Amino acid sequence: MVLPDSSRGADADVLIIGAGPAGLALACAVADAGLSVQLLEQGSLAALEAPAPDGREIALTQRGRRVMQALGLWQHLSPAEVAPLCEARVLDGNSPSLLRFAVQEDGGPPSPLGWLVPNHRIRSAALAAARSRPGVQLACEARVAALALGPDRARVTLADGRRLSAPLVVAADSRLSQTRRMAGIGASVHDFGRSMIVGRVAHEQPHDGIAWECFRYGNSLALLPLNERQASAIVTVSSDLAAQWLALPDEEFAARIELQSGGRLGAMRAVGARHHYPLVGVYAHRFAAPRFALIGDAAVGMHPVTAHGWNFGLYGVEVLARELAAAHSAGRDIGALSTLQAFEHEHRRATLPMYLGTNALVSLFTDERALPKLVRRTVLALAGRVPPFSGLIRSALTRQLTEARDAARTLSPWHRRRGPGFGP
Ligand SMILES: Cc1cc2nc3c(=O)[nH]c(=O)nc-3n(C[C@H](O)[C@H](O)[C@H](O)COP(=O)(O)OP(=O)(O)OC[C@H]3O[C@@H](n4cnc5c(N)ncnc54)[C@H](O)[C@@H]3O)c2cc1C
Repeated sequence: MVLPDSSRGADADVLIIGAGPAGLALACAVADAGLSVQLLEQGSLAALEAPAPDGREIALTQRGRRVMQALGLWQHLSPAEVAPLCEARVLDGNSPSLLRFAVQEDGGPPSPLGWLVPNHRIRSAALAAARSRPGVQLACEARVAALALGPDRARVTLADGRRLSAPLVVAADSRLSQTRRMAGIGASVHDFGRSMIVGRVAHEQPHDGIAWECFRYGNSLALLPLNERQASAIVTVSSDLAAQWLALPDEEFAARIELQSGGRLGAMRAVGARHHYPLVGVYAHRFAAPRFALIGDAAVGMHPVTAHGWNFGLYGVEVLARELAAAHSAGRDIGALSTLQAFEHEHRRATLPMYLGTNALVSLFTDERALPKLVRRTVLALAGRVPPFSGLIRSALTRQLTEARDAARTLSPWHRRRGPGFGP
């Protein structure tokens, strides 16, 4: 793709920095509002066209899926890549009791809590959807090295010296966003000192669409149900142990997961590569400035336990695109702070309580001292009984797979028919 080298007129209505899933989804939404988009991605086109599996199995909420459908991303996913999540169960320490969460629809058939889709498939779907829009231009190997926010235009300079300008620049360049820094926007950073090791396992027994979250002492294990008797095993350990877990032979890794899950899924075998993610939560101090906005992980980088990063990215795309469309059709300036502040307020309201709640709960559930252990036992007991409290706990512990108003903490008819199944 040849980039226009222009310092005269604007190169597009919106410049989006980063062609990850958030940048690509926003490009689709903005193009649908009748605005032209120039995406700038530092990586190669080959990497974008054939993203490598990265071990992330993304749990999508009902709203997340709706936004993906509206933007045409969902339609690019093969059904074989989408696994329904029917129920979530939470175990604490060595306690034999457990919490169960499932959804039932009023009078209707049981509906999944959510869906699991590999991240690299989401990336491919987002690229295909963006490419189907004539209003979206994509430039790869285009790393943004400088940003200047002027009164009428925002200007970016690429590492190779080319310059572009637009009434609005949106940064979608991930949680350690350089562009956010260039815009003078700070962020709260919470380093959990822990890392996630993720890898697929194949298992003997059916998982029945159930996700397990086991807060064992020392480390925690989540098992996410995938298609064809496979699960994604997510082990969270102190970061100094991460290299050790990564280096385990496949047989040893599978044996440890089998043991920690209490043999519920029968014999296990490791499938494919293991991946490692240091856990750092990031929340930008502001999501907008004149001629500038943040989206995706650049705005809110969540701890993955509540499965919100990409879902929040989609919610932000929905709100920002709606505000830009309204401004555009009313002939208002799309880069004006007044346009972007409505997005900022709504996205902050939607994300901040969950960001703070997730961080607090993660800290509690990884604290090995006696008092925190007692508190977490109490928290889980309350989660079962006190409705407003149960909402927060359910959200945080079961990877928040539905919007609050849709969810009901109850055994689904599906579950009642089958009986308790895998109790410890
Ligand atoms: C283990 C794990 C499990 C997860 N599970 C879930 C889940 O179940 N549910 C959920 O909703 N979310 C989940 N997430 C979060 C989700 O993966 C992220 O929120 C999402 O991928 C972020 O997308 P993004 O587009 O904001 O950022 P990225 O995917 O990081 O994309 C950023 C892009 O910007 C480009 N870039 C960076 N700097 C520049 C520059 N200067 N110039 C040009 N381009 C640049 C990069 O090359 C990259 O392509 C999980 C995350 C992890 C780590």
